[in-house]
Order: sequence, then C-alpha cells, then structure tokens
Amino acid sequence: MNNFSYTKAGDIGQAIDLTNNNTGNKIVAGGTNILDLLKYFVTEAETVVDINRIEGLNGLTEHTEGGVRLGALMTNADTAYHPVIEQKYPLLSKAILAGASAQIRNMATNGGNLLQKTRCYYFYDPVTACNKRVPGSGCSAKEGYNRIHAILGHNENCIAVFPSDMCVALAALDAIVQISGPEGDREIQFADFHRLPGDTPEIDNNLKQGEIITGITLPAETFSEHYSYLKLRDRSSYSFALVSVATAFTLENDLIKEVRIALGGVSHKPWRVKEAEQFLTGKAPSEENFALAADIILQGASGFQHNEFKIGLAKKAIIRNAAMALHPESQRPGAKPSL
Ligand SMILES: Cc1cc2nc3c(=O)[nH]c(=O)nc-3n(C[C@H](O)[C@H](O)[C@H](O)COP(=O)(O)OP(=O)(O)OC[C@H]3O[C@@H](n4cnc5c(N)ncnc54)[C@H](O)[C@@H]3O)c2cc1C
Ligand code: SF4
Repeated sequence: MNNFSYTKAGDIGQAIDLTNNNTGNKIVAGGTNILDLLKYFVTEAETVVDINRIEGLNGLTEHTEGGVRLGALMTNADTAYHPVIEQKYPLLSKAILAGASAQIRNMATNGGNLLQKTRCYYFYDPVTACNKRVPGSGCSAKEGYNRIHAILGHNENCIAVFPSDMCVALAALDAIVQISGPEGDREIQFADFHRLPGDTPEIDNNLKQGEIITGITLPAETFSEHYSYLKLRDRSSYSFALVSVATAFTLENDLIKEVRIALGGVSHKPWRVKEAEQFLTGKAPSEENFALAADIILQGASGFQHNEFKIGLAKKAIIRNAAMALHPESQRPGAKPSL
C-alpha cells in the first residue's frame, strides 16, 4: 500500500471537488473493496476521501407514487433486512444476502457494491499482464486459469465478470442510479450503468470523473409474488457466483404477464436479454418455454479452457430458478421445485 492522506468530505460538493480535481483522490465508503485494492497495489491513492459523514446519502425513502430510494451509504445489511425491502422487494433482499458474509454486508454500502471491481485473479496480482489494471498490457486470463470468467459479452481485451449479487437483482428490477457530479445531478438506467469491456476494459461503468452515486431508485413494480435469486458457486457461503440468476414475473390467467431474467457471474455486467423476456410474455410458465428463453439468453455464449461448463450450468440455472420463482415457498432448504 502506498502512503496516502485521509480526509472526510463534509458534503457532497466537497467530495465531488476533491475527486474531480485530482484523479489520485479515491472515495472510500464501506472500504471492503477499495482497501484491498490499495493493499495489493492494484490501485494507489494520493488522498482517500471518506464520504461516510455526508448527510442525505443514507436510509430508505418510500415514494408516494410507489417505488423507493435507497441511499448510497445505506449498508447492504440494512437494505436487505429493511422491512420494506423484505416485503416489497424480496428479490433484492435475497440477492444481497447471497453475497459475501454478514460482517462484510454490515460494512459494504449500496453505492460501493455497484462499483466493486472484478474478482479476476490476475487483476489482483500486479506482476501479471492485465488490460483492466494496466491498459495495453494483455490479458493473462485468456490462456490462464479462467474458471470464473465470462461466457457472454467478452472480447480479446478482457474476459472478466462483474461479481456483484445485488446488481443482478437491481438489473432485473430496472433500478435507476442517482448521481451528483461537477455538472449537476443526473440518473442512469441500471442497464446502461455497467459496460462491456470493448476497447477500454479498464472502465467498468459510465460514472464520469468526479461523480458520486447518491442513491438507487427502485420502480413501483416490486415482483413480490413470483421471484427467486439462485446463486451457484463453489462453496455455499463466502464465495462469488459462478452463475447466478434473478428471475421475477407476474402472472395473469396462469400466463406470464411480465417477466425479468438477469444473469450474474457470466459477463462484464449483469446480463439481461429483452428478446427472451418478450418471447415469454403471454406464454405459460412451463419448463419448455423457459428452456427456449434460456437458449435466447445464451445465444452467442462461448467459453474458454476452464469455464465451458458455465454455458450448460447457466441454462439449467435459468430453468430451475423459473420454477423457484413460480413457487417462492419452494426455496426453503430441501424443497424440490418443479414447473
Ligand atoms: C471476502 C469478500 C467476499 C465478497 N463476496 C461478495 C459476494 O459474494 N457477492 C457480492 O456481491 N459482493 C461480494 N463482495 C464485495 C462487496 O459486496 C463489496 O466489496 C462491497 O459491496 C463494496 O462496498 P463498499 O461500500 O465497501 O465499497 P468501497 O470499498 O468503499 O468502494 C468501492 C468502490 O466504490 C467507490 N465508491 C464507493 N461509494 C461510492 C459512491 N457513493 N460514489 C462514488 N464512488 C463510490 C470507491 O471509490 C471504490 O472505487 C465481497 C467482498 C469481500 C471482501
Ligand atoms: S480478464 Fe480482464 S481483469 Fe482478468 S486478466 Fe484479463 S484483462 Fe485483466
């Protein structure tokens, strides 16, 4: 870790000024990711800017017209266990609780969760080539150990995946990210927040220099009747997803009225394919239909030496999670859901 100064931003304007005027100044919220990046020399800081004292970035606000706003500094634990989230947005609660550990969720903030870095081993190892850490240096994962890597949306520059669980549910729920920056306030639709690697794999999202996430808005549609988050991983806790699926739908006359399916652990951003959701709309929630939707979602999927298995795993996960969403009570341990 390099030597750095530490300062507490008193308000949002100060945090924006400090980070906008100097790219060496880094925001810290819960610190569960940025401090590791500093410790492993993946990144350096001139000044670490602590935003935890800024007022108005915490807590949950219910909108009168439906929907809620989650503060950027609200912790993952407070969000997952908030009665409004548990009752109205159980998909989000379930996805958050599938991530990390109780201790980390107590520290991790909602804003930080959106901005966490990939868990690609080579990214955290400064002696290896990594285009995300050092642009133009190459990608060690392509020919290396790539078991946890992408099967969708990757290119020759980077095959890393975005590791968040929370963000898979936020993608399915059509959340909106609220931002303040040097040019004022703006919002980004969740689908447009994270990026594919393209020619700039070092850029994970569309936040601009000096911009701060202030909150996340969840729309009025809560999908609290039919939802499920399925996370498949090497260990049953404290492990990132190999493949995860957030599924939510509403039914009318036993047919699918509206459906959302988002995948995690498979790409550089949460993966959602609108054509698959359109295909399912108006159809019966049957295994056959979800299998066909899975084929649409996984169109163009390709793996590497150690992660080809993820393609078949993702298809099975999509079908299984649809059954779980149809019968959320089946998610209790030991239950065997079927469509
Ligand atoms: C051992 C371990 C296991 C984990 N397992 C999982 C898992 O299974 N699933 C999962 O989803 N996550 C997992 N995580 C990741 C964890 O959820 C993230 O580290 C956490 O959400 C980051 O939030 P934070 O507040 O600590 O962010 P910080 O570390 O404080 O910041 C992260 C990044 O966001 C920036 N930042 C933070 N807040 C803002 C803001 N409001 N505006 C602008 N920039 C900001 C920081 O500058 C930094 O670049 C794990 C982490 C660890 C250490
Ligand atoms: S996959 Fe991306 S993060 Fe991993 S080594 Fe390659 S460029 Fe770096």
